[in-house]
Amino acid sequence: MTISRQDALEWIKSVANVLTENKDYLTELDSAIGDADHGANMFRGFQAVLAKLPGVTDKDIGTIFKTVGMTLVSTVGGASGPLYGTFFMQAGTASAGKQELTAADWGAALEAAVNGVVMRGKAVLGDKTMVDALTPALEAFKDAVAENVTIGMALGRSVQAAEEGMKATIPLVARKGRASYLGERSAGHQDPGATSSYLILKCAAETWANS
Ligand code: ADP
Ligand code: MG
Repeated sequence: MTISRQDALEWIKSVANVLTENKDYLTELDSAIGDADHGANMFRGFQAVLAKLPGVTDKDIGTIFKTVGMTLVSTVGGASGPLYGTFFMQAGTASAGKQELTAADWGAALEAAVNGVVMRGKAVLGDKTMVDALTPALEAFKDAVAENVTIGMALGRSVQAAEEGMKATIPLVARKGRASYLGERSAGHQDPGATSSYLILKCAAETWANS
């Protein structure tokens, strides 16, 4: 089975819904180790994305993802705007012209997306950022695809790895972003960006469960 253009659009809409539901939660996490705007940032970005989607419903998946990325870059300030903008723009470049994605195609898109975030933000695993959720999710997805399981199952394993990575940020001392200004005091709190990354991937796993 594959991920269709319609599936891709449904994913983005579900991300907008889930980020709306979790706006206060993400802001609460960011108030502990940042400046209490992550929920508002993600909400603002994905509301702008929702407004843009009608213009790309008949376009290929690459165009859909690129539009999401460009919209996030232009509407979200802070660290997360350019990082998630890069994530979706790179996923879009990797899916250019595609009307549907196989498991291998999504693996390639996710790989390009995560590599884009790493290149842009220069965070490595354990720096207490979104990379701590994204990198394990990518590795788990690639491992699952190598075992030839269904996309749905591979997505399930990927989101489980993202969740573990997100929870593993709690004891860490932040080495990148605003939370790093707190030094040791950043330990004991879950990273907001790792949390939004987990939510975004969870939406993919749920929306595409039967793909
Ligand atoms: P800001 O920190 O500018 O207020 P947000 O609050 O929207 O932006 O996003 C904060 C999140 O961005 C952090 O929780 C972290 O996951 C992520 N982040 C910050 N800097 C980096 C970086 N250099 N690389 C990857 N992720 C980062
Ligand atoms: Mg913030």
